Amino acid sequence: MRLIFLGAPGAGKGTQAKRVSEKYNIPQVSTGDILRAALNEGIELGLKAKSFMESGELVPDSVIIDLIKKRLQKSDCEKGFLLDGFPRSLPQAEALESLLYELDNPLDSVVSIDVSEEKIVGRLTNRRLCRKCGADYNFATNPPPENMICTICGGEIYQRSDDKEETILNRLNVYANETIPLISFYKEKGILKSVDGMSEPDAVFDSIVAILEEKNK
Ligand code: AMP
Repeated sequence: MRLIFLGAPGAGKGTQAKRVSEKYNIPQVSTGDILRAALNEGIELGLKAKSFMESGELVPDSVIIDLIKKRLQKSDCEKGFLLDGFPRSLPQAEALESLLYELDNPLDSVVSIDVSEEKIVGRLTNRRLCRKCGADYNFATNPPPENMICTICGGEIYQRSDDKEETILNRLNVYANETIPLISFYKEKGILKSVDGMSEPDAVFDSIVAILEEKNK
């Protein structure tokens, strides 16, 4: 199973990707997570990406394409993969096409998770994460404990620096200008499936599974 999850920041791609990758036993490849890990480790990739990430801009295509080429050639991707946060621009989608063509591994489905802009701003400003295990908290729906210590692993709960309101608005603009064109790109290829991402995570998950299983019949 080779999948892409598309959606605005805060649409729930990461949450759903984690569950889908566990269900089908395929790796979740999140470019955002890879970049944040590189930033924490202080390695060159993280330093290259830092200023773009902090302002909510896209990291240059060449850097991301290089990263994804290396990642998709690792052995765990042989049985399939779920791309979360990649591609985010037409040049990235075209580079992915050529890479998968070379590997003789075409995409199966692109799932677009659709959520209104109003809901996204609320979700992202309320979002908090565990620095250690990545668990998601949200002041509106799943509040973190007062001491901001993760109830799952004891790690520190924090707010992503790009989840501040002014950066969120820029990320949404970047999404509209750079990433939305991918919807038509994949629609024309006949592999785009859309799900309503406004409901509770369990309901969104059920819709995604239904779409994927329909596809595999
Ligand atoms: P995310 O965790 O997916 O919201 O990504 C956080 C940030 O990492 C984005 O705002 C970008 O600065 C950068 N980033 C992640 N994936 C990509 C990508 N495919 N292309 C360019 N920049 C990316």
